[in-house]
Formats: sequence, structure tokens, C-alpha cells
Amino acid sequence: MAEDADVIVIGAGLAGLVAATEIADTGKRVIVVEQEGEQNLGGQAFWSFGGLFLVNSPEQRRLGIKDSFELALQDWMGTAGFDRDEDHWPRRWAEAYVAFAAGEKRGWLRAMGHRIFPVVGWAERGGYDAMGHGNSVPRFHVTWGTGPGIVEPFERRAREAQKTGRLTFKFRHRADALSMTSGAVDGVSGAILEPDDVERGKSSSRQVIGDFSFRAPAVIVASGGIGGNHDLVRKNWPRRLGAPPPHMISGVPEHVDGRMIGITEAIGARLINRDRMWHYVEGIRNWSPIWPRHGIRILPGPSSMWFDATGTRLPAPLFPGSDTLGQLQYIMATGHDYSWFILTQSIIKKEFALSGSEQNPDLTGKSWRMTIKRATNEGAPAPVEAFKENDADFIVRDNLADLVAAMNALVNDNLLKLEYIKTQIEARDREIANPYVKDAQVMNLHNARRYIGDRLIRTAKPHRILDPAHGPLIAVKLNILTRKTLGGFETDLDSRVFGNDGQIIRGLFAIGEAAGFGGGGVHGYRSLEGTFLGGCLFSGRNAGRAAAKAVG
Ligand SMILES: Cc1cc2nc3c(=O)[nH]c(=O)nc-3n(C[C@H](O)[C@H](O)[C@H](O)COP(=O)(O)OP(=O)(O)OC[C@H]3O[C@@H](n4cnc5c(N)ncnc54)[C@H](O)[C@@H]3O)c2cc1C
Repeated sequence: MAEDADVIVIGAGLAGLVAATEIADTGKRVIVVEQEGEQNLGGQAFWSFGGLFLVNSPEQRRLGIKDSFELALQDWMGTAGFDRDEDHWPRRWAEAYVAFAAGEKRGWLRAMGHRIFPVVGWAERGGYDAMGHGNSVPRFHVTWGTGPGIVEPFERRAREAQKTGRLTFKFRHRADALSMTSGAVDGVSGAILEPDDVERGKSSSRQVIGDFSFRAPAVIVASGGIGGNHDLVRKNWPRRLGAPPPHMISGVPEHVDGRMIGITEAIGARLINRDRMWHYVEGIRNWSPIWPRHGIRILPGPSSMWFDATGTRLPAPLFPGSDTLGQLQYIMATGHDYSWFILTQSIIKKEFALSGSEQNPDLTGKSWRMTIKRATNEGAPAPVEAFKENDADFIVRDNLADLVAAMNALVNDNLLKLEYIKTQIEARDREIANPYVKDAQVMNLHNARRYIGDRLIRTAKPHRILDPAHGPLIAVKLNILTRKTLGGFETDLDSRVFGNDGQIIRGLFAIGEAAGFGGGGVHGYRSLEGTFLGGCLFSGRNAGRAAAKAVG
């Protein structure tokens, strides 16, 4: 039977786009099958903040940050905590990926016109020992143009390849099955969905109007993770994090449905580390939602005080921005699936950022004039102020008694006791005037402000929370927000998928979130952040090059 292409890619998210453009560049013909419409090109990456993990970059060096491959690998391994037999390939991917982040990654992107905002962010700071979780130094490089800025070079390359006929997009084509002949994958079949011009990110119609079947000697699965499918998230929820949360909000669109993962598993592909996932605990309901249960993650600076649902401050080192899964584990152990920030106007102004391209019009729109306002600090960015005013999860009051009363009212409970919260805040506030400091969070503030990037745009000058001069007081109810899938199909460094018998399945590749961003779980248990888009770039590039070579 005639081949329709040399390679078929399932999914036009970032990973799929990278692989497809690499294939087309070798002169091979590639079909990209995508269940959503053309308006959704780029998948989740379009919505992303565009944060990239880079090591020893010129941006870091300019800010006086000393980084190295060795330090980054130490951080990665301490964060990943690889401890399973099935971590063999994830570990090899981790070593290769850190080398990519310290080497080719920045230059490769730059040659395609990608640019970086000059202030490097410091995500997942840890707080344990040198071999434990966290970034020893700031490494979160925000794309100038955020998510759309990372999609743009690959979309451009794809459009060029489209013109020459080497790349064909098949939008509204939903893959439902993979075909195999003599043990090798050789095609994709599925349903053609009715056209739908629904806005990007919104749920589209699933009405079937036809079917399709394409043949090719290589198929790359780039279908994303499971974060939009809460049933699957709950089914795979790791017991070490307690029972699955009864209430969650979605940090990803509904097309992140995990359906293709089951279809790929059905032909014998080996899915590993399915219980590893990366969800956030600082989720707020989007008052202007795009997708179902739409939540936004607050990217918090280090100063907000964090309380569980009963009003107890989270223990050290579980401060904002330190250890996402440590916080999730602690919160789930409280028997409640939410927690609280208490902060001041001075803190929100300087420290609150919201993850997502649409929440950062200054960086997304590449406007220096607007971006500079982050440093001049005249107010919180407009989207943050809009949340403060409109969002059900934000409470603003002039005094603590009113604040706590409103917090109790919001959850329709009486769990928070004013005196208990007041005692804890006053104790912390006493440490502000103490130059030696016992409170680990306050120590962290002083440490953060030694880094110029944090001092400029991320860390408020330490002050008393109850000082009215820094008011009003603000409380934010924080929900659990689903986002990333850390496990996936086990692959070798060429992104070739292993079967349950331990042998490579000929003709089958997996990349991006579907492959746990490479190998079936390059992150192990935890992430250093900015590593997901990078995982799509690296695994997509490897797969594209390897598949093009394999088909001869
Ligand atoms: C708001 C937000 C902020 C983020 N910020 C960052 C950040 O700053 N840094 C970072 O590193 N990461 C970030 N991420 C994560 C990152 O964007 C994603 O993990 C990554 O883009 C996933 O890419 P992917 O190509 O693997 O999958 P996706 O983007 O999910 O693309 C998969 C595509 O496959 C299609 N598909 C699925 N099943 C089928 C099927 N059966 N048939 C046909 N098509 C199918 C889907 O419709 C989709 O278009 C963020 C994510 C979000 C949502």
C-alpha cells in the first residue's frame, strides 16, 4: 500500500511542531494530525509563560549568577529523586537534557529569532540541603513574547514547509487508533470532526463527520498529558500525596485529555511513572474563564504568609516558591484541599505574577514601556489588580479581624481563629526588625534581595504584615490546579518507544508531555520549572531527526 507520508505526527502542540519541522527540514514528507482547529496551533505552549530552564546563560552571567552544568545536574538529580528500575531512561534523558540546557538550547533558539527577557527568575528554590530539591541559582528565563514567542519560530518553519508541500496539517483529525504490520507501527486512523471556529483554548465540538486513515513508516505521538481530564488525574493520583483532591481547577485546556495515551498503550507501548505529576497549590479560579474549570497559577514571590485551611502556618521550608510537591503533600495531609495566602498591598504589587501568556500582556506583547513598570513598581500589573477586584478567591480588608471573618465566610466555615492567626503574624513581624533573624522565611527574604533580579521585580522590601502603611491586607484562597504529567511512554534518546516486552516498537516515537518530556519521566518526582517547554524542544528535536533518519 502506498505511503501518505514519511512520518505522521499526532498533535500540533510545541513538541509536535518541533518534530515536524525538523523532519521537513531533512526533505522528508510529514503529516501533522491534530484534533483541534487551526486556531489552536501550538497547544498548551501558546498559553504558557514561556519560561525556559537554561544553565550558565549570558542573561545569568550579566546578573552576576554563577551557574554550571555540574551545579544544574546536582540540582536536577536532587529534585528528581530517581529511585525506580524504570528510571533508567529518565535518568539518561535528564543528563542529556541538562547538557542541552547548558549548551545548544539557547543558541539554537536564538538562531530562529527567539529572545529572552533579561531578568532571570528564581523558581523552586528548595530549602533543604545542597543535594535536595530546588534551584541553587535563578534559571527561569522568560521568553520575550511568552508562550506565543516560543511557538512562533516553529510555526514559521512549519508554514514554510507547508508551502513546499513537505508538511501537511490535518486539523480536526482525531487519531483513534494506530495500525501495525508485522510488529511495526505503520499508520494512524481516526475521526474527522466537524469544523468549529470556536476561540482558541475553548472546548470544540466532538461531532464526527467522517473518518480517515494515513500510512507512514514512522508515527510520532505528541498528544500531550492528562491534566485536563480530572478523572484520569484522580485515577493515577499518587497515594504518597494522600487521597485525590475532591475539588480541583484546570490549568490546561480540555484537549489535554490523555485519550491518545490509552490508545498508544493499547498497542503495547510501555507507560511508566504514571503516578508522577506536577500540580500547583497556588491556583485561583479565573474570573474570566477560557476553558472549563479554568484556573490560573499565581507565581508567588517569597513574602506572603501561607496558612493551611485550619489557620496554621505552613512549616519551613514550605514558603511560596520553594517546593511545589512538598506543599501539595502537606496540604493534602490537612484533610482540606485548599490553603491561604495572607499578604499586603506592598507584597502583591511587587511579588504577584500570574502564569500564562494572556495574563502578562506586557511580556506577551513585547512592550518595554509596559514591562518597565514591573520595576518602577507603581502598582500591581493590571491583570493582578483585575483579579484582586473581580476574583472570588481574593479578599481585601483594612484590618485582620475583618479579613479573617471574610475568609471564614468564603469557605462557609469557622475553621480560622483570629487570635491564632494574629499570634503567628505578630511573631513573624517581630523578626522584621531583628537583624539576626530566626524565622526561615524572613531569612529567605534577605537572601532573595541579595539577587538583583529579585530586588528589582520580585521581592518586596521586608516589612511587617500588620503595618497599616503597607495595607490593605489581602487574603487569597488557593486551590489545587492540575497541570503537568511527569510520567509517560518509556523512550530511548531517539524518542523510540519501548514495548511492554522491553523491545523497541518499530516505527513508534513519543515526545513532549506524552513521553514524560523524554524517556518516560525526565523530571523524576519534581521539576525545577521551565523544564517542560524545554522538554518538548529537546524530545521533539531528537525524535524528528531520528525518525527522518530511520525512514531512510
Ligand atoms: C498556562 C500554562 C503555563 C505554562 N507555563 C510554562 C512555562 O513557563 N514553562 C514551561 O516549561 N512549561 C510551561 N507550561 C507547560 C507547557 O506549556 C506544556 O507542558 C507543553 O506545552 C506541552 O506540549 P505538548 O506538545 O507535549 O502537548 P500539548 O500542548 O498538549 O499538545 C498536544 C496536542 O495534541 C493534540 N491531540 C491530543 N490527542 C490527540 C488525538 N487523539 N488526535 C489528534 N490530536 C490530538 C491536542 O489537541 C494538542 O493540540 C505551561 C502550561 C500552561 C497551560
